[in-house]
Amino acid sequence: MRVLLVEDEEGLSQALTEIFKKNKINIDAVLNGTDGLKYAQSQIYDAIILDIMLPGIDGISILRTLREEKNNVPVILLTAKDDISDKVTGLDAGADDYLTKPFSTEELLARVRALTRRKGEMKEEAITFGDLTLSKKNCELQSKNGEAIKLSLKEYQILDLLFENPHQVITKEQLIEKIWGGDSNAEYNNVEVYISFIRKKIENLKVGIRIRTARGIGYSLEDESR
Ligand code: CA
Repeated sequence: MRVLLVEDEEGLSQALTEIFKKNKINIDAVLNGTDGLKYAQSQIYDAIILDIMLPGIDGISILRTLREEKNNVPVILLTAKDDISDKVTGLDAGADDYLTKPFSTEELLARVRALTRRKGEMKEEAITFGDLTLSKKNCELQSKNGEAIKLSLKEYQILDLLFENPHQVITKEQLIEKIWGGDSNAEYNNVEVYISFIRKKIENLKVGIRIRTARGIGYSLEDESR
């Protein structure tokens, strides 16, 4: 699990970072709204903890922008005071939960876990794109005419990211962060090898789906049959 913390109070940010790390949750902390939005748009996070009052761009505007971009990452808002209007505005803007400062870190951890669990449960058993279906249950790719090919876990995870964001370029950095984790020694070469495995499997299913290379950047899932 990887979490983004957007909080400008350095003391709080450091304290939360330590506690999350102790609980084996990868956390990236940024101290202003401008960086917050940029990081949040990277789509590598399983949850975002977002302060409302921030220098640069405020938390509500970040949240609105993400939702306008159809980014459904779970967001927990941190509100400075027990202000009902802040909460209503936040939930209206698409927040999944909120906490009023001061809060206990255990409670924040519990809420983050609950949200990411809920998202995992809601995830479809299978995702279809064109004539190709990615089955979570069987960890395989299925073609419309009933053929299926088994996937390794990493192949599945890579395809899951591509299927969830069709026609969008997923960068090699995003793939490494999301699938191998930011602290791993995985390199672009690992990604390229896995993509070539996956391409062969898709080719064998003889459907019009292709993983397109955005040269020097990453990959996108395209349907060339229509
Ligand atoms: Ca603040």
